[in-house]
Amino acid sequence: MKSKRVVIIGAGPAGLMAADVLSAHGVPIDIFEAKASVGKKFLMAGKGGLNITHSEPPSDFINRYDQSDWLKPMIDEFDAQKIVTWMESLGVSSFIGTSGRIFPTQMKAAPLLRRWLSDLKKRGVRVHCNHYWKGFTANGGLCFSTTEGEKTITSDATILALGGASWPSLGSDGKWVNILTSMGVDINPLLPSNCGFNATWSNYMDSHLGKPLKNVFGWVKSSSGKMHKSSAEAILTTYGIEGGLVYALSRPLREEIIAHGKATLYLDMLPHVTEGTLTSLLTPSGKQSIDNTWRKAGIDGVKTALIRELLPKKSWSDARCVAASIKKYPIKLTGMQPIEEAISTAGGVKREALTENLMICNLPNVFCAGEMLDWDAPTGGYLLTASFASGRFAAQGVLKTLI
Ligand SMILES: Cc1cc2nc3c(=O)[nH]c(=O)nc-3n(C[C@H](O)[C@H](O)[C@H](O)COP(=O)(O)OP(=O)(O)OC[C@H]3O[C@@H](n4cnc5c(N)ncnc54)[C@H](O)[C@@H]3O)c2cc1C
Repeated sequence: MKSKRVVIIGAGPAGLMAADVLSAHGVPIDIFEAKASVGKKFLMAGKGGLNITHSEPPSDFINRYDQSDWLKPMIDEFDAQKIVTWMESLGVSSFIGTSGRIFPTQMKAAPLLRRWLSDLKKRGVRVHCNHYWKGFTANGGLCFSTTEGEKTITSDATILALGGASWPSLGSDGKWVNILTSMGVDINPLLPSNCGFNATWSNYMDSHLGKPLKNVFGWVKSSSGKMHKSSAEAILTTYGIEGGLVYALSRPLREEIIAHGKATLYLDMLPHVTEGTLTSLLTPSGKQSIDNTWRKAGIDGVKTALIRELLPKKSWSDARCVAASIKKYPIKLTGMQPIEEAISTAGGVKREALTENLMICNLPNVFCAGEMLDWDAPTGGYLLTASFASGRFAAQGVLKTLI
């Protein structure tokens, strides 16, 4: 194995994890990275707290993925517990947040990345930054554009870990799609996931944009009749709505919008109160103002504004009508935010284009890993888990092929 040269392109979580596995087996590794430094998206993920994985039971965990049966063998080998153990091996402790999400104790990605890179370096992994992969030469060489001009590099096996197409300024620009498509690799179009959605608000809503809508429950019914539910925070924005609640529903919302040009997101803005109780609470008593009645029933701030946005003034004193609107508030969504703004990317190299070991069927000894594969998942640590796990799996595929 020491005489074989393995090249990994892309120094994100998937590529680095592939290097981790291969270097542990004594395989000489060269990682080529387009940007001037590694793991830019990983570092960005750590900005608001690096949610690296999730503590829920494995059977629930795996069902967060659209391609759960494909990813299961990969994630079984590098599940949440193994991620925690791996971090500990690098001296990084972790904790489980109230929602079950797992974070490094320091919350940031930088300390973990620093220790990881130092470990990889000790094992001889060489990282070459400022190397932008442009495709293959006619005889299978890897063509890079670098600060010193064009370079061609050969390898016995290559792992492509080029990421999706969200936040391209961090390095993953999705341009690999054209390269691989031109070589006959079957790819599902890259689409925004865990993204904001477009809706139109009247000027009246201006002062409420950017404020969180807390303790709400949301759902969308897909054309097939299936209900998709989520309860998390949402934020109304100038373009529409964003936040954990819609990120979790981004797959069915996206599918509806692509199929019908629109989707309706429903919100229950007081999920812990029944419609009957709410109607009683909203029934005016004495001289109490509408605002006071609503506030006492739990409707204030953004929720008040949304009701006023939806209902004509004459309905504001209609307890039944207000209660029904609070319990099933429709928001018409007309589009998605661009992929550049999304947290992650759906679509990518199709399962059928790859062998069981993640080797591209029609490009021998070229493997793929991470977000460039055709899977989708909500936020919650599932994205990083699948990126790590598929990076390891592709590396094991290389070991099986080269030995
Ligand atoms: C703001 C934000 C917050 C996030 N927070 C979380 C979170 O808390 N938890 C979670 O699970 N996930 C989170 N994610 C998602 C997570 O960061 C990604 O799913 C993960 O980084 C994907 O790993 P990857 O290795 O497949 O791709 P990437 O991390 O995108 O790495 C791909 C690498 O390939 C390089 N590359 C691309 N094209 C080329 C080329 N042609 N030549 C050479 N190099 C190239 C890129 O520069 C990049 O370094 C977040 C994402 C964003 C944008």
